[in-house]
Amino acid sequence: MKNPNNSWMTAAPAAHGRGRPCVITRRATFSASHRYWLPELSADDNRARFGPCSLAPGHGHNYELIVAMGGPLDADGMVLNLSEVKHAIRHEVTGQLDFRFLNEAWPEFDLERPEGMLPTTEALCLAIWRRLAPHLPVMGLRLYEQPDLWADVLDDSMEAFLSIRTHFAAAHRLARPELSPEENDAIYGKCARPHGHGHNYLLDVTVRGRIDPRTGMVCDLAALQQLVADLVVEPFDHTFLNKDVAHFATTVPTAENIALHIADLLSGPIAATGAALHKVRLQESPNNAAEVFAESPQLGMAPQALEALAVG
Ligand SMILES: [Zn+2]
Ligand SMILES: [Zn+2]
Repeated sequence: MKNPNNSWMTAAPAAHGRGRPCVITRRATFSASHRYWLPELSADDNRARFGPCSLAPGHGHNYELIVAMGGPLDADGMVLNLSEVKHAIRHEVTGQLDFRFLNEAWPEFDLERPEGMLPTTEALCLAIWRRLAPHLPVMGLRLYEQPDLWADVLDDSMEAFLSIRTHFAAAHRLARPELSPEENDAIYGKCARPHGHGHNYLLDVTVRGRIDPRTGMVCDLAALQQLVADLVVEPFDHTFLNKDVAHFATTVPTAENIALHIADLLSGPIAATGAALHKVRLQESPNNAAEVFAESPQLGMAPQALEALAVG
């Protein structure tokens, strides 16, 4: 009879995946108000810097939080028991913030204290990280202030990613001028038809930067939105890209090439705001998108965390 402790018998896969790593995500929502107003600035300076966000008594958002957590499976086949995850998020975050005025809900946002920060999307995402990390194996957090504005935090440092979404409509034709119609048809199919066709493009621009310890911002959001509007949306919207945007007279305007050109247009001007252009994501249709990572060399971040957040 064989010894049941022989290694060949214990080498079988552990039951229920025990010990194997996995990333899980949990979504939670809360509604809260805030106001951007720094007591050390004059009323005029507050209005000039923060625009309508400076108006009293504040305004609100329906926030959506995505928490990515990683670790090995336990004997029950879970990274964590979801009821414990739900409890931790409710106890540490949503139960304290839902229907509250953020400036007063947490001391992090008490601007009478010198270490107080404005409750921007990225500052709130970082504060949530710091409150959740002691309780959950957090790998990444995404916080949507609204569907077209969100922040990602991947560690406890002051670094954050801020993303804005906008859109434009444009026509294009995919064909290389040096090729015959038959050759273009063989490569690009219907997209090579001579009079073009159009898309409603969705454009996500992600910047990376350090959160300012007082303004809570990685960059001036209004300035970032203005750059994207002036350099991309205004010149691209309602155009025939091949004819109306000089770059595409000689470069085939595939989604990939449009995303690359947008990254080239935005990199320098965004760097001047103090943040770095991290990613351009151009969604051409519900079925295809192109992503350009503008920073080089590659960051040493955990891409699996960002991937997990993206499906939230
Ligand atoms: Zn707001
Ligand atoms: Zn197309």
